[in-house]
Amino acid sequence: MKKKMTALEKMQKVELHQHVDGSIPVDVTWRLMKKHGLHPVETKKEMQKLLVLQAGEEGALLRYLDKFHYPQWITQFYDNIALVIESIIAEAYKNNVRLLELRYAPIIHSFAGLTLRQTISSVLSGINKAKKRFSDMELGLIVIAMRHQGPHIAKILARQAISESQALHERSGVIGFDLAGAERGNPARLFEESYTIARSGGLHLTIHAGEDEGPQAIWESIDILGATRIGHGCSAIQDKALLKRLAKDQIMIECCYTSNYQTGAVKIGEPHPILTFLEYGIPVSICTDNTTVSATHQNKENQILLQWLSLADLTKIHKIAEKHSFIHLNGKPRPMQGTTRAFKRKKI
Ligand SMILES: [Zn+2]
Repeated sequence: MKKKMTALEKMQKVELHQHVDGSIPVDVTWRLMKKHGLHPVETKKEMQKLLVLQAGEEGALLRYLDKFHYPQWITQFYDNIALVIESIIAEAYKNNVRLLELRYAPIIHSFAGLTLRQTISSVLSGINKAKKRFSDMELGLIVIAMRHQGPHIAKILARQAISESQALHERSGVIGFDLAGAERGNPARLFEESYTIARSGGLHLTIHAGEDEGPQAIWESIDILGATRIGHGCSAIQDKALLKRLAKDQIMIECCYTSNYQTGAVKIGEPHPILTFLEYGIPVSICTDNTTVSATHQNKENQILLQWLSLADLTKIHKIAEKHSFIHLNGKPRPMQGTTRAFKRKKI
């Protein structure tokens, strides 16, 4: 018998921060590895341990990033990439996600010879196939440049991303540009030109910042790069002036609760900054980051936050998140309306 859906499960959700590599269902990775004879272990159960963060592995970014190693073995080929994209979208749909922005670093999918443009169009092919199955879903791709590969590569990626921009295509396209990877030693300010290129090509701008660096990284992201959304942004709570600025300019923070404890961005036992952000009136979105690595999904992330927020609050958060989506509405950028008024947490 089919289980009745709870009100939380039924709630329509908006996902603005989800990585392809960390979200491929274990079943799909296993199937593709077996098909190509690439499986490093004999059973799916053993494979799962290599793909999903295990108890005792939390609290360190490097152990978290280790989990991204194996999916890359299979996502170097056009059809495989399109297939994993479809499977990720299908999983999100089951959680009642109706607007989904996926993100992906093209360069780490070019090792087998795909051009950067092909690595992007393979994702778009998967998205467009999924759209036929899930016609009530809005979908788009954010292209990521990796910090450690440096500002020149980021500029090249920004140009490639523009060529597949949603503004130039009838079907789904690239909606935004992002920077990810180790913040330390690779400051945001060095990537100004790539952000200028992306902006000039009509892409929206987000950035992973304040995950393993202090508030300065977030200031640079908004003042120098012009990012209108921040991924994680955890360290903003250390700087009241920054919190006020984020609220004043309605810069959205893409919050990834489970992932932040797993990577050590938020220390275990400390409250998650999303509650402070909400109290300041900063728009936030509830995001999974990596559904497979973090063993999570949209329903689970929302369920956790129900400890402090009401279902009405969560519904409102998703509605506001929708306004901050980079996906065009009827071929045009979404109109931004109103501001986020401060929320009150239920208890802490
Ligand atoms: Zn992320």
